[in-house]
Amino acid sequence: MPGAATLGVLGGGQLGRMFVQAAQALGYRCVVLDPDAISPAGAVADKHVKADYLDSFGLAQLARDCDAITTEFENVPALALETLAGMRVVAPAAAAVAVCQDRAVEKAHFEAAGVPCAPHAVITNEIELAAVDPALLPGILKTSRMGYDGKGQVRVSTAAELAQAWNDLKRVPCVLEQLLPLQRELSVIVARGADGQLVNYPAQQNLHRSGILAVTEVPAPDIPAEVEKLAVAAARQVAQALGYVGVLCIEFFWLDDGRLVVNEMAPRPHNSGHWTMNGADVSQFELQVRALAGLPLTMPRQHSASVMLNLLGDLWFTGAGGPTPPPWNRVLALPGTHLHLYGKAEARHGRKMGHLNITAETPAAAHDVALQAAAMLGLPADF
Ligand code: ATP
Ligand code: MG
Repeated sequence: MPGAATLGVLGGGQLGRMFVQAAQALGYRCVVLDPDAISPAGAVADKHVKADYLDSFGLAQLARDCDAITTEFENVPALALETLAGMRVVAPAAAAVAVCQDRAVEKAHFEAAGVPCAPHAVITNEIELAAVDPALLPGILKTSRMGYDGKGQVRVSTAAELAQAWNDLKRVPCVLEQLLPLQRELSVIVARGADGQLVNYPAQQNLHRSGILAVTEVPAPDIPAEVEKLAVAAARQVAQALGYVGVLCIEFFWLDDGRLVVNEMAPRPHNSGHWTMNGADVSQFELQVRALAGLPLTMPRQHSASVMLNLLGDLWFTGAGGPTPPPWNRVLALPGTHLHLYGKAEARHGRKMGHLNITAETPAAAHDVALQAAAMLGLPADF
């Protein structure tokens, strides 16, 4: 119950931090397990267990301290979740997280759930490499496991390039996906309770730069209503088919020919859902707390048109000389701007330092302020 229980998180990154902050607002104590002495979530948690994810002493301590435990990143060893599940409530379940950890397994799950994904081939050996259908080229070779923010991905145009790329990726199991003509990218976040209750946010329109999410807009300005409806139905279907408990994000491609295909999913709150912290009456982090703690889920209501700008470390390096913080005073003077920084001491290129939410009464007004903020921050006006 709120005020009388302790929740645990595996992982100390910014998603864990925002989960902890949402949980604390509801009166929960929080314990974070992370191997690093200093971490965004560890810094705000009531307690930080500094241990490796497979350290049995650390896991036992987390289980002893907590009534229920979740994870903030999908590459946490499934074994850690299984170990904890023997002792405490764990959501999402190790089996669901394991599906999300492997692109080949994930794609098989989408197909089994009746949701189309990109044409692809699984490559785990020379024979499968040689048997690849040339129709999949040009394509993107992605490692099956441990990819994020476009890491572990190589674009290939010919069979020779494919063979070279697979070699360069150390011949680990991979998935070759056909390079699809994307009209737009979108994502849908759903939350499902242990009792089967299922709620969702509206479709989010996402713009990526260099494989990393840059801008999310909700409502999705360029997505036709019937495509949004399809995406929401598909996302709910995927969560249902997994018997999922917690917050789940499903990413989609809307293709030039009008088709909608699923890209991948993340078994946790997602960067594309950060707008919910200011643009909806319940944030994705509160929904994760509620799902984990067995509290009721209510259908979230978007009360403001929203734009989210990701703030990468690059913004600290726009001038000459060393890292300099962006002009927050000017940005925050714009109406409806909400700054979220993750407490990372050192800015680095490509590092997620925070995000800026912009809320307004109309999508046009939110978009306009977002463009002004982008200009102040030195971000492209490509949205
Ligand atoms: P993250 O976990 O951060 O979302 P990731 O590393 O798992 O990213 P993907 O989501 O697979 O990577 O791909 C990153 C981006 O690359 C996509 O959002 C899209 O812009 C582009 N992309 C990926 N696959 C394809 C494809 N088959 N065709 C065209 N573009 C693609
Ligand atoms: Mg992705």
